[in-house]
Amino acid sequence: MSKQRLKRILITGGAGFLGSHMCERLVGEGHDVICLDNFFTSQKFNVAHLLDRPNFELIRHDVTLPVFLEVDQIYHMACPAAPGHYQFNPIKTIKTSVLGSVNMLGMAKRCGARILLASTSEIYGDPTVHPQPESYWGNVNPIGIRSCYDEGKRVAETLFMDYHRMNKVDIRIVRIFNTYGPRMHPFDGRVVSNFIRQALTGQPITIFGEGEQTRSFCYRDDLVEGIVRMMNCEDNFIGPVNIGNPNEFTIAQLASKVLELTGSKSTIERRPLPPDDPTRRQPDITLARKMLKWEPSTELRVGLEKTIDWFQTIRMEDYRPPTPNFA
Ligand code: NAD
Ligand code: UDP
Repeated sequence: MSKQRLKRILITGGAGFLGSHMCERLVGEGHDVICLDNFFTSQKFNVAHLLDRPNFELIRHDVTLPVFLEVDQIYHMACPAAPGHYQFNPIKTIKTSVLGSVNMLGMAKRCGARILLASTSEIYGDPTVHPQPESYWGNVNPIGIRSCYDEGKRVAETLFMDYHRMNKVDIRIVRIFNTYGPRMHPFDGRVVSNFIRQALTGQPITIFGEGEQTRSFCYRDDLVEGIVRMMNCEDNFIGPVNIGNPNEFTIAQLASKVLELTGSKSTIERRPLPPDDPTRRQPDITLARKMLKWEPSTELRVGLEKTIDWFQTIRMEDYRPPTPNFA
């Protein structure tokens, strides 16, 4: 890998919620950043403020198709991430994880670039070990409605490891746990965006099941810092490493917090629990603490306040549902 300080960096899925913040951060550091996205679950306006920067370039492209670029680092983040988005076209979702990873790993191999995979806590499925360390192999349904995402990412991890072992590609794997913050798609159906949008518009807060299932929510700035540290970690540490916030909350507790912080009078509405919805989820971040000297610092209350402030500035009608795309 090139040792110069300023690098040529490709971010696939760079117009998405997390990708756009990665673009901002790396453009701000002076790197030459290429954002590649097919806008399946995002819109150009997420990165429009970067377009006049001389070190930023935007390419509309689908990662399931080959592309030839010359880069030093690749953050491979292209993939729909919200259940409603990845279940919209499950075949496309798994193609994105599998074919997209093959194409990006091929590019990394050709360029001698370092490549980082944005993997997920979904690797662990509905975990029987709690909290989840990286050594846990998971409990994933291979034929359910979440499988296109979970198994797609598991194959992506396998491909990364095999390109590393066989072709010496310089890889990094991060397993991201539920992350939230400004620029989430307001209609992505994820719990934080749903609850905030519902609270601000006076609609009922939809709790699936009893609301006793747990998630551990990480604020996007903490996450971005963890990912960048992993990419630049020079200790031959390739991961996988969990990046997430270990503070665990039930979904009912999240609903109460959102109601309190928005001052909303929204009622609570129970909906059936979707199939295979994980019961508990909490990252064990011992490895990230040790190897990356990283841990999250944003309390849920503070992160939610910032996210709520941002939701109050957007026009919901500017956001469209995922692009109909049956390729
Ligand atoms: P997002 O949907 O906002 O971003 C994904 C981006 O990828 C979008 O801009 C989308 O248009 C693009 N994309 C999708 N399919 C593509 C394709 N075939 N070709 C090119 N671009 C494509 O989601 P996000 O939350 O920003 O997630 C980013 C990455 O992080 C994903 O890989 C996701 O699996 C991973 N991740 C996120 C979370 C989280 O809580 N946000 C948790 C675990 C893993
Ligand atoms: N959830 C909910 N109401 C909603 C959206 C989600 O109760 O309006 C629940 C969902 O069933 C899950 C949790 O919140 O248990 C997190 O869901 P999300 O889609 O955000 O992410 P994931 O299940 O992939 O962690």
